[in-house]
Order: sequence, then structure tokens, then C-alpha cells
Amino acid sequence: MLEINGKSVYNSLCMGKLYFYGMNKRTVKREKTDTPETEVRRFMSALTAAKKELHELYEKALLQVGEDNAQIFQIHTMMLDDEDFYGAVINTINVQKVNAEYAVSYTSDIFARTFREMDDEYMQARASDVCDISERLINLLSDNSGTDTIPEPSIIIADDLTPSETVQMDKDKILGFVTFRGSQTSHTAILARTMNIPAVINTGEISPEHHGKTAILDGFSGALYIDPDELTIQEYKKRKALEEERAKLLSELRGKPTETKSHKKVNLYANIGSPRDLAAAVQNDAEGIGLFRSEFLYLEASDFPTEDEQFRKYKEVAEGMCGKKVIVRTMDIGADKQIDYFKLPCEDNPALGFRAIRICLTDTKMFKTQLRALLRASAFGNISIMFPLITSLSEVIRAKALVAEAMQELEDEGIPYKKNIETGIMIETPAAAIICDMLAPEVDFFSIGTNDLTQYTLALDRQNSALEPFFDPHHPAILRLIENVIQNAHKHGKWVGICGELAADLTLTEAFVNMGIDELSVSPSFVLKVREKIRDLD
Ligand code: PEP
Ligand code: MG
Repeated sequence: MLEINGKSVYNSLCMGKLYFYGMNKRTVKREKTDTPETEVRRFMSALTAAKKELHELYEKALLQVGEDNAQIFQIHTMMLDDEDFYGAVINTINVQKVNAEYAVSYTSDIFARTFREMDDEYMQARASDVCDISERLINLLSDNSGTDTIPEPSIIIADDLTPSETVQMDKDKILGFVTFRGSQTSHTAILARTMNIPAVINTGEISPEHHGKTAILDGFSGALYIDPDELTIQEYKKRKALEEERAKLLSELRGKPTETKSHKKVNLYANIGSPRDLAAAVQNDAEGIGLFRSEFLYLEASDFPTEDEQFRKYKEVAEGMCGKKVIVRTMDIGADKQIDYFKLPCEDNPALGFRAIRICLTDTKMFKTQLRALLRASAFGNISIMFPLITSLSEVIRAKALVAEAMQELEDEGIPYKKNIETGIMIETPAAAIICDMLAPEVDFFSIGTNDLTQYTLALDRQNSALEPFFDPHHPAILRLIENVIQNAHKHGKWVGICGELAADLTLTEAFVNMGIDELSVSPSFVLKVREKIRDLD
């Protein structure tokens, strides 16, 4: 038995044959030509055909996996339209006097390497998009469909699957995904989660000699067991049966109230990053959305999303939740969430730098675009607005003033919005937790972001895995701050929730309920587990 470890991006278990995707990809030969103009013509018609294919794929994906995931094909079309890219291919053909296939492969290698070497994880992930478009062009030039036909349900192994490869695959034939590279924000990871497929990334290269062998993919630990021994198979079967049994038991809690035995009710909401997570929230019976991390709309885009684009997404979530509360956090860009087109300054301490509300209160035009989109969407459901990384009263007052300005604009334009929309703030800095009594009169609610609150209170960079042994969200300083926030919120008649990872920590659920927490917002897959825990409390 061979054990290979990677990073899990979707928690589940599966067992099946390994299928090395793309193993039969042809190698592109470099051929000299005396007629580069013919090669340029061949390239241009492949370019047109590729765009046509991408349009068809977009239409197909729109039906299968929704607009968010389909958008990648529009991005690929934009990449094909990029003069830097196609100009470089034509230049290679003319200067090196080579065949079009080789020029495409040569150019895409350079572009992909450039992306891979960038610091930003999101931009690194774009390397696979370049490979994807180049693969499509080469297939067209060599008259090859390029798609692998997976013969039976298998665990798919690949270097780094491109989104179009993933969408084109027959879903019934996929048991799980393993990729040698990739990142949490790569489209492969995003699509795998959307498709409900266990996935492990960053395993490092796996030899294709294992093609066809039986394996177990443990999406909980991130391990792949090739040729598992009898003991591991028995263990897997037990865990799989337990997983199914547990899921069945938990699903019986759907529709049941989230309250303790003595009828203390807690609002149990879900955290989402985009409208495509809505299905999971609804499936797990979330009573609302406690944190919609709106920055993911910006992270997935290649330029600032327009007011209309944002409006459509917020409206989709508001309508999808059918009148239940949807708390949208205004964009929390900066620190670990860097975006090229924001052109943020390079900082020594980005976690303590220009991020979140600080960007919004500086670039008020951009902020107002988001606020207008949110307010417009508020006419279609129960949206609340929440500001991140608050440290002072003046930030809250300025943010609210911008909401009022946006409201006035919509009023003047005769556009409907929810006039009494709730506004709240995240308590995720020690400053906010300490002055929460001063902040409470200005807001409708608090939501405690324990991820950042832990980072800033314990002076521990949450991105630095070397600090893992010191990262202690159960530290009494954190628990005292949480208790202080709950007490002060209640003194001012405001409700308070927790939306950081700690909200799903079942060892603390009882303590939070005893402190008087009003709301817990967790990943969709944790909703029923937390409900079960609360219903067990006396
Ligand atoms: C938090 O800081 O706890 C939080 C919920 O926000 P994020 O993890 O997105 O920073
Ligand atoms: Mg945070």
C-alpha cells in the first residue's frame, strides 16, 4: 500500500480505480516552416473555432453548474482575445518560422510560468487557465477532440485540472479528484466543491504507473491510499458506513428548531462565499446566512464587478433564502485576500495594513458601488449589511453615512430598497471588542469574527502554519472578549452572533449558549451538527 498526502478541499471518502486524466496528451513537435503566413492563418482559424467552442461550453455550463462557474469560459474567451497572448503566438511563428502548434505551446509555457511565479495565489491558479486555452487551440490545430473518455467511475488524477476539463467530464464517472498542484481558490477546487466531489490537491507528482489501480481517497485527512491493504479497506468501509449513517441521522434534524431542552433558541445561520454555496446552505437547513463573504465576488473577477453584476448575485442569494436573514459583509479585501486589479501597495504587514473597511472608506466610489448593489438587492429579500475590521466609532459613523448617501441616490433615482435595512459590524479586532459598549448604540447587531479576533488578540499571524502550536482560540482572553461583547450588546438591546470558525467548535457551544449568544453562523456542513449539539443542551 502506498500513502500519498495532500490538502483536502472537500471532506468525504471514496474508493475506486485511479484514472490518470490527460495521460494520452500528445507531445507538440517543433517543425520548421517556409510559409509562416500559412501557419498564422491556421492559428487564426483555430482561434475563431476555440471561441466558438467556448461559447457553447459557456451555454452548457450555465445550465449545469450556474452562471458563476460558467463565467470561466468567458474569461478564457477574453484570454484568447488578449493581444499580448495571440500577438506573442503570431510573433513566434514569424520569428522562429515554426508550426502553429509549437508556437501556441511555446507561448503558453511562458505565460503559465509567469503566472505561476506570481506571489498571489489567485494569479498562480490562472496558469492552469492558460494551459487550458492552449490545449484547446492545439487540439483544434491537430484536429483532436482532446477529451478523455473515462470508462468507469474512477478517482481522477491529474496535474492540475482545468475548469473546462472538469465541466466536460461525465460526472457519473467521477468518484473523486486528486491534483498534483492547485490551490484552495483554483477553479478546480471551487468546481469540485460545487459538484460535491471529494477532492485533494497539492499531492505532488504521482507516477502514472498507478493508472487503473484501486485506491481510497480520504478527503478528511487529505490522504490517498493506493493498493490499500485489507485492514485499510475494512477501516474505510466502516468509516463510509458511519459517514452515511451520520448524514442520515443529522438530516432528520432538518426542520427542527435550534433550541436547548429548556427552549433557549439560537439562530443558526450559514457562512457562504458566493450564490453557488446557497444550495448547501438550504440543503443543510440553515436558518439564514450569517456571513456572505462578498469579497469572493471580487476575487473571482478579473476587474471590479459592476453594480449590476453585484446586484444580481446579492439578489440571487436574497431570493434563494426566501425572506430569511442574509447578512452580507462588505468586501474584506487585503491581507490574505489580494487582488491584482486593486493595485494595493506592497506592505510589510498586510494583516495590519490597508484592508477591508480601510479600503472602502478611502475609495468611497468603489464602496458606494457595492452599497448601491446591496441596497437594490434588499428590495428582494431580507438583507443586512455588515462592515468588517472595525476598530473605531468614527469608522462606523462614516460607513453608515455612505449607506445613507447611497440610499439618497437610489431615492432620487426612484429605485426601490429596504429603508429600514439592518446594519451591523464585525467584532474582529481587540479594539472593537473593548469599546463595544460605545459601538453598540450605532449598530443593529454585532457578529464576532473569531478568526481575526484570535489573530489580533494573541498577536499570531493566522496564515503562518509554523505558529499552529500557539494558535489557541480557546485562550481565556478570547473567551473573555466574547463574553464582554455579548453582555454589552445586550445592555444596548442589540443581538450578537459569532461567524468565525469558533462558532462551529462543539466543545464551546454550551459556553456560548450560557453566555447568551443569539446567533451562530457556520459552514453549511456544520449547521446540523451544531443544531444537534444545541438540542442536546439542558
Ligand atoms: C473572522 O475573522 O472570524 C471572519 C469570519 O472573517 P474572515 O475569516 O473572512 O476574515
Ligand atoms: Mg475576518
